[in-house]
Amino acid sequence: MSQSQQWIDRNDRVIAKTYGRYPLVPVRGEGCKLWDADGKEYLDLLAGVAVNNLGHCPPKVVAAIREQAGTLLHCSNFYNIPQQIRLAELLCDNSFADRVFFCNSGAEANEAAIKLARKYSSEKYGAGRSEVLTALASFHGRTYCGISATGQEKIKEGFAPLLPGFRHLPFGDIEALRAAVGERTCAIMLEPIQGEGGVNLPPENYFRQVHQLCDEHGLLLILDEVQTGCGRTGSLFAYEQEGIEPDIMTLAKGLASGVPIGAMLAGEELAAHLGPGTHGSTFGGNPLATAAGIATLETLLNEDILDNCRSMGAYFQDELEKLQQKYAFITEVRGRGLIIGVEMSIEGGEMVKTAMAKGLLINCTVGKVLRFIPPLIISRNEIDQAISILDDIFSETV
Ligand SMILES: *Cc1c(COP(=O)(O)O)cnc(C)c1O
Repeated sequence: MSQSQQWIDRNDRVIAKTYGRYPLVPVRGEGCKLWDADGKEYLDLLAGVAVNNLGHCPPKVVAAIREQAGTLLHCSNFYNIPQQIRLAELLCDNSFADRVFFCNSGAEANEAAIKLARKYSSEKYGAGRSEVLTALASFHGRTYCGISATGQEKIKEGFAPLLPGFRHLPFGDIEALRAAVGERTCAIMLEPIQGEGGVNLPPENYFRQVHQLCDEHGLLLILDEVQTGCGRTGSLFAYEQEGIEPDIMTLAKGLASGVPIGAMLAGEELAAHLGPGTHGSTFGGNPLATAAGIATLETLLNEDILDNCRSMGAYFQDELEKLQQKYAFITEVRGRGLIIGVEMSIEGGEMVKTAMAKGLLINCTVGKVLRFIPPLIISRNEIDQAISILDDIFSETV
């Protein structure tokens, strides 16, 4: 029996059945490449679901983790943590924000955002003004707050009662959003580009209109940049390309290259509403995670990662559009930077498995959208390699 099969059998005996896992056992990674337990090589266009933005085991991040692990792994948030402070400074220097709260995941960052929004609203306007408008097909995480905020029925089924105070409107429809704002509304929470929902881009000017709507009604604009942040769309944060600034932004996935981390960012006045004792996290922003975050952000800022993301993103989209000319079942290619979706008129689940057999790791969301979220360091050669495998798969599909 292969090494991989032995691990798969053991997995099936002890791991909770929450994931429909592929029969793949990755044991080593470098750049855009992964190797499984039997030594087979894969080109990884999933990147741990938009986590490994600098590729697998980026040397500077690995060095920072090694150094920090031998110095101080963890200490309490009762104390001042130099790595946490430095990472917060980097984030604030390079965004709209003045303050950062650290936690351990995207869902937790969104929890913090919703808590801040409601606390602010209750302190400024009194009780009862607590409703948060979010989008249909959104994804905000798997905690109770996360699934309550998420606009997809299938992830809520059987978990009632959910957290009250969320309403879901069609993404990109400013009139629907405007009509939904009421006296009890305190915030609008959106992803700049919907990731899990199928790589859905907003219409031109949508976020300017949302921002204006928020201004008119004293609403907070919360942007969930858990997936779009950290360089994914070609700018450090996706909001930069929309010509607006949010009131609150959440980050996680790409922020520490794979060490668990989450962050909630806000301006000075707003952040003041979460005072001492109102929120916290044991692990949030610990020395190990934030040391990895500093090395990640410094690499993103100081090396030409964002340039590469933009140019390779454009090249990848062009090449995918050429495949669209060839295959009638491809109905749309869309994306920004290196978050790209290929919408099809047929199911994509089997293609993911075929690709894996051919050494290519891709992803399919909402049944019919192939999603490509590779490391931002991907090269032209690697994209050519991926395109050639995809061409193969598509040609066998018709
Ligand atoms: C992945 C994701 C989350 C959840 O992050 P976790 O770290 O899994 O809790 C939240 N929002 C968006 C937009 C995401 O893509």
